[in-house]
Amino acid sequence: MTAGRSAKLNPANPETKWSQKCSFFRSSDYQTVSAGTAVRFCSCVISCANPRDSAPLSPRVALGIGVDTSSSGPWGFASATVVHEIVIAWQQYLAEQAAHRLGPMVRSQCWSDEQQRRWPYYDFAPTRDLAGFDAIIVDARPLRSASADTFLVRTLFIEPSRDNSPPRPSALVTVHARRIGNTWRFESPIDRVSADWKRFTVGFIHYVVQPGLEFDAARAQLAVAFADSLAEAFEVPRVDSMTYYMATDIDALNLLRGFQWSVSVTSGGGLTVQSNHQLFAAEPAFGEAHRHEIVHYVLAAMPNTNNGNNLIAEGIATWLGGTLGLQGPALRAQYAMYVKSHPDVTLDRVIDRDDVDWGRRPAAAILRRMVSDARGNSALRELLRTGPSSAERRNTMSRVLAKQWSSIARDWRILADAGTW
Ligand SMILES: [Zn+2]
Repeated sequence: MTAGRSAKLNPANPETKWSQKCSFFRSSDYQTVSAGTAVRFCSCVISCANPRDSAPLSPRVALGIGVDTSSSGPWGFASATVVHEIVIAWQQYLAEQAAHRLGPMVRSQCWSDEQQRRWPYYDFAPTRDLAGFDAIIVDARPLRSASADTFLVRTLFIEPSRDNSPPRPSALVTVHARRIGNTWRFESPIDRVSADWKRFTVGFIHYVVQPGLEFDAARAQLAVAFADSLAEAFEVPRVDSMTYYMATDIDALNLLRGFQWSVSVTSGGGLTVQSNHQLFAAEPAFGEAHRHEIVHYVLAAMPNTNNGNNLIAEGIATWLGGTLGLQGPALRAQYAMYVKSHPDVTLDRVIDRDDVDWGRRPAAAILRRMVSDARGNSALRELLRTGPSSAERRNTMSRVLAKQWSSIARDWRILADAGTW
């Protein structure tokens, strides 16, 4: 169905009825931000590799016992020659992605042209972020019986063992290999996985809804209005088109992206790939209006910002859209309980340590509140342009709030304890 843009929402008054939850702040709540791309992952997924690590990484690829390149294989298809060709092509692709892991996702002769035309960020289970891991190809077989043109390739990525500790699997990635002439091209399974998902259009949002989920057109209209009002408030262009995948849970979202399995510590999450005009949502409680991700999507259009890794961007998204399925008073109360029981959680630790969570997103939402109170929302734009280093964050906050950092940290703690932000 199609609906126009309706009445504006007040961003300061987000809905508070959503209630879904998971283990809160007890586990890591990392985000993976791929260098040079407007991609943001906001579920509790363990970051696979450090994309800032500039050390040369050569993927070590092994074959599982079911991947046979030495015998004739079953009669009629899956010959050793074909599997061997696919394995060689896949190794080439992994090496190519590892080589370009620090920059934007580059066009690849190993990947489907059609998917690359549709999506600049075409590899949704980004093997570039797994470049430092060992890879075992555990599966390479025809996708359908009696078809030798499309193969399923599954690869298990394992963190290399250190100090003789046991290896730790990190992701099981599925791609499809399709024969194009004399070559093999890989592609994401996203279209096949979502082939029977329902389609709805409301305003500029094209929803792709997993079977089993009901579509709420009224809430979709609120999502459109929310995005429009946000664009106006932050003086960025309105969104003209977005594909919004709505999944039941993080496992379904992972399958859509090509992760047969990936490390996760929550049941929900979201992903914004603004360069592809895509938003992935796996929070049924938020449904058609995953405001946190919509905020990331809209603010990605803001020029000259460090939106990809800016703490304030997370603060604004959490202020307007909540996090981990919680919003408004419930979120503030939960975070207050957390910080009261963890006196060692300080703003300095949040600022300095991106690799441990400590409620990073509500912590940033408190900063947002402090800035808005003191200088108004226009000052938030200045903070969105802040660099990612701890020193830059401290300096900018001190300048904007005209306070010593120690005073800012003390005020932050008072608000966090009181849950009044
Ligand atoms: Zn976020």
